[in-house]
Amino acid sequence: MKFIENYDPEVGKAIEQEAARQRRNLELIASENIVSEPVMMAMGTVLTNKYAEGYSGKRYYGGCQYIDVVETIAIERAKKLFGCEYANVQPHSGAQANMAVFLAMLKPGDTVLSMSLDHGGHLSHGSPVNFSGLYFNIVSYGVNDEGYLDYDQVERLAVEHKPKLILAGASAYAREIDFKKFREIADKVGAYLMVDMAHIAGLVAAGEHMSPIPYADVVTTTTHKTLRGPRGGMILASKESADKFNFNKAIFPGTQGGPLEHVIAAKAVCLGEALKPEFTEYQKQVRKNAKALAAALVERGFKLLTGGTDNHLMLVDLRGMDISGKELQNRCDEVFITLNKNTVPNEPRSPFVTSGVRIGTPAVTTRGLKEEDMPKIAECIWLAATDFENKADYIRGEVTRLCEKYPLYE
Ligand code: PLP
Repeated sequence: MKFIENYDPEVGKAIEQEAARQRRNLELIASENIVSEPVMMAMGTVLTNKYAEGYSGKRYYGGCQYIDVVETIAIERAKKLFGCEYANVQPHSGAQANMAVFLAMLKPGDTVLSMSLDHGGHLSHGSPVNFSGLYFNIVSYGVNDEGYLDYDQVERLAVEHKPKLILAGASAYAREIDFKKFREIADKVGAYLMVDMAHIAGLVAAGEHMSPIPYADVVTTTTHKTLRGPRGGMILASKESADKFNFNKAIFPGTQGGPLEHVIAAKAVCLGEALKPEFTEYQKQVRKNAKALAAALVERGFKLLTGGTDNHLMLVDLRGMDISGKELQNRCDEVFITLNKNTVPNEPRSPFVTSGVRIGTPAVTTRGLKEEDMPKIAECIWLAATDFENKADYIRGEVTRLCEKYPLYE
């Protein structure tokens, strides 16, 4: 990084400052993680120079023999890790993977049954401002008053609207998703089942969450959340599904041009890491930390949607407290804790303000924090919410002590 600072001080300085921020702050954004140095280094290689439209052995450019090796390693590792017959590792992001799957399986105007954004779904699952909501007829399901997925509602809406595709998966849901139940509902109405496992991919890889692979017609994911790889996406399926829907064609030439082969190399390195036993230990610890943090937050006095968590994240419901999600996010930022505001079901405030925050443990677990560190984090967030003016300096001191105990990228 010093090299960039010497070569281009303007950009280099901002990168150095971001590195310092990451070292100084407790990262609790549930969708973020901290990649290994080999994953990061793979992205900064000569592979960024290469155009490789097409797929291994069938490229539209010459000179792809080594690119083919890298992409094939990534594909084979993804298939082995998730136990599936087909993988496309070219999606530039999770949203791109979802867009390609919609292109492959649907026609504009088709009905899709998916989780609404304010109940925990993702923009690319049918928000009116996203391609998915603009070009498809979206019917939304959500969670019940306790915050649990309402499978009865999913079934009722499926029977009523006969969707062509049912989409399971969420950006803000703290409990295990029952993919078998989704398959049963999809079969009942003759719908395709798509699962977006972006948030939980690492847990699935490690056997810490039910796998969607045996149940879904197609699975999409990001590679940078619990999976702890570079920013990017993947599409996974059976051979039968891949042949029937031709997801490869939907990625290229359907929705993308040249693949980012330097990022695909980093995906390959990350998937190699995920195949090692240490990765399973890491995912177990992510869940242990999430459970410990959820319990400590509740003990302090916070209300959590569903009262706890099965996975890597929890949703704090601030209704009934005198603070919005936005305000708590801002206060935490000032005391070196990074988390994000989040809507709660039937949100009374605007999505820019919100009445909740989402908290996740993947990044702090990578850093090395254990269950015994979680009560301190809960105390800091509680004080930020209830006694910020008097306690801001104290929180900064405690966060700094924790971050120095678990140093990052030394
Ligand atoms: N799907 C889910 C469930 C997500 O939570 C996200 C991102 O947060 C995405 C897709 C989109 O991924 P990306 O930001 O890489 O486009």
